[in-house]
Amino acid sequence: MLSNSEIRRLFNLYAELLLLHQQDERLAALLSGAAYRIGNMSEEVIQLSPKELSKLFRADITKILRELKNTSTIEAVEELIELTPQGLFEMMRIRGLGGKKLSVLWKKAGIDSIDSLLDACKKGTISDIPGFGVKTQSNIIGAIEAYRSSEDRFHYASVADTADALVQELQRIFKTKLIDLCGEVRRKTLTVATIEIVAAVPVKNVHKTALRRFIIVQSSAKGETKGHTLDEIPVTIYHTTKNDFYHQLFVRTGNQRHVQKVLKKIKGAQQYPSESAIYKMARLPYVVPEMREDVAEWTFKRSADDLLTTGDIKGVVHNHTTWSDGVDSLTDFVQACKLRQYEYVVISDHSKNAHYAGGLKEEKVVRQMQEIDKLNKKLAPFRIFKSIECDILVSGDLDYLNDLLKQFDLVIVSVHQLLKMDETKATKRLIKAIENPYTTIMGHISGRQLLIRPGYPLNYKKVIDACAANKVIIEVNANPYRLDIDWQHIPYALQKGVMISINPDAHSIAEIDNIRWGVEAARKGGLTKDMTWNAMPLMKIEQWLKVNRRK
Ligand SMILES: [Zn+2]
Ligand SMILES: [Zn+2]
Repeated sequence: MLSNSEIRRLFNLYAELLLLHQQDERLAALLSGAAYRIGNMSEEVIQLSPKELSKLFRADITKILRELKNTSTIEAVEELIELTPQGLFEMMRIRGLGGKKLSVLWKKAGIDSIDSLLDACKKGTISDIPGFGVKTQSNIIGAIEAYRSSEDRFHYASVADTADALVQELQRIFKTKLIDLCGEVRRKTLTVATIEIVAAVPVKNVHKTALRRFIIVQSSAKGETKGHTLDEIPVTIYHTTKNDFYHQLFVRTGNQRHVQKVLKKIKGAQQYPSESAIYKMARLPYVVPEMREDVAEWTFKRSADDLLTTGDIKGVVHNHTTWSDGVDSLTDFVQACKLRQYEYVVISDHSKNAHYAGGLKEEKVVRQMQEIDKLNKKLAPFRIFKSIECDILVSGDLDYLNDLLKQFDLVIVSVHQLLKMDETKATKRLIKAIENPYTTIMGHISGRQLLIRPGYPLNYKKVIDACAANKVIIEVNANPYRLDIDWQHIPYALQKGVMISINPDAHSIAEIDNIRWGVEAARKGGLTKDMTWNAMPLMKIEQWLKVNRRK
């Protein structure tokens, strides 16, 4: 069954291809609009009834969705793919190059790969094409450089579902369970370069037509099949035998140091009935795949049963509504949390300094508190906590005075502006905010955005020590572009007794589900259920706030 994110990607691809081939522009516009809406929907669009669909989308779109439901594919897209040179799929990923511009480049100038495009830009021939000027030409060069310097990596969240679906498809086609993910995707690294799969299936059996839904096979070398998904995520399949499967799976999952540490302790053996058998033979505790990053001692001390899972999360912390820059109303958002069986929600819109994000002036935030009081009466025993994502000013002071701060149930503090700081300045700024008596949670601690910007440098030891001393919780911002605090700092935080909260930083109902990415990243750092703040049920949270929060 296709997920919303897969359908969104497929619709966007369809729209680009229509423009590229100068076909139905109107349908292309409808598809882009539908893709955007589907990406933000909380229910699976493929499961909606025809009647529900007709309320949401125009007839052209519902027809396509019906076809997808019945056949898992869109015939027209398949045909367009056949007509499109390989290189153009990659060109679609260059920022600023949509189907229309690509169509001109391809049909008028014969450019069908990034290399030939860069060549033409450098020779200056692009600026002669109508609609392309000198400025566009230099923008394209910049965009290609940006694309190349991100080393063709992808956020884990944009690969995970496709990778799982691909493995399931392969297992179904080849009727074996001895096909699994390995490499970065199985370790759930925050960004990944390629989907890697180990399969106990001979090379010759991986037939092009059988895999058409997902990959177009480009080459087939010794024991490996290479290809990519429809949206250009590279895929490598390592072929192996039934007897060697678990050995290969183990070797191709952990990083070198981890694999070697374990295998060094086993003499002679080559074939294993499972991965746990490998650890057993090495007389080491089993380590879950996402923690096989290295050989740090704590990785072998964390029992898989103690690790946090998505199902352990009891409340949705750090959310934005239409009061600031969220897209859903307070009432709708809260209802959605309740519907998903959470026990509580923490509403934390932006404070006044974040004016670009609709930050709330003092009077307005007081009005929001009153509204929350009313809703709480209606929705009990479900609980809405009054909070704010309060800007940390350059001085380290908070954006509201303490008289207002103390009226919130809890306060999240974050840096949103003036992020260019050296380590000393940044560390001082954060510690001052952490020391404010009304601070409860430290939000996206480094300000990084994966594959976009690195975030300011910090002395993590000092900052975490300050959190420990002031009973401040540290957030794992679960937005898949942030995943901030980085999991590598979690072991030290836990050692210091600092609790971690997995916060979706949701700006829409759909983004509540970001929680999954936060949990998966935090597990890499060995986060346990008992050290996760929002794994506590409502009653415990209320107690915690009573004990730890000054009024
Ligand atoms: Zn923020
Ligand atoms: Zn936020």
